[in-house]
Amino acid sequence: MADKCIFCGIVGGEIPNHTVYEDSMVLAFLDIFPHAKGHTVVIPKDHFESLWDMDTDTFQSILAGVRATAGRVQARLKPDGMNIGINNGKSAGQVVPHVHWHIIPRWEGDGGGSMHSIIKNPGDKSVDEIAKLFK
Ligand code: 5GP
Ligand code: ZN
Repeated sequence: MADKCIFCGIVGGEIPNHTVYEDSMVLAFLDIFPHAKGHTVVIPKDHFESLWDMDTDTFQSILAGVRATAGRVQARLKPDGMNIGINNGKSAGQVVPHVHWHIIPRWEGDGGGSMHSIIKNPGDKSVDEIAKLFK
C-alpha cells in the first residue's frame, strides 16, 4: 500500500526513527523536535487520521501501547511526571494527520505548564448551560 502520510513512512521504514517501543499495534519514537527531554510520539501502525476513525477495540489496544511506552520512558529517563495527550484535529494543534499520542516527560522546575495552559477561553455560556447538553 502506498504511504498515506509521513508517519506511515516511518512505519514503513522509509523514514528513519529512534524507536522507544514497538508492538503489533503501535510504534513509538522520539519526537524530532522535542519539547522536553525524551519527548516521544506513539502512533498506531495503521493510518487513522483522528480518534474518531478507529473502533473501540483498536483504540484499547493502542492505549495499552501508549501505557507501555510511557512505562519505558519512565524507566529510562526517570522524570518526575509526564503529560500524555493527543492534539485531535487541526484546531487542537494537530499537524500530522495520523493520530498520535505525545508523551512529554516533566521535571520539577522545568518551566512548563499543565493541560490547563493549553487554553483559557471558557466561552460565553455557564457550566450549567453546557450541562444541559448532556441531559
Ligand atoms: P502534532 O502537532 O501533529 O500533534 O505533532 C506532530 C509531532 O510529530 C511534532 O511534535 C513533530 O515534531 C513530530 N514529527 C513530525 N515529523 C516527524 C518525523 O519525521 N520524525 C519524528 N521523529 N517526529 C516528527
Ligand atoms: Zn499515516
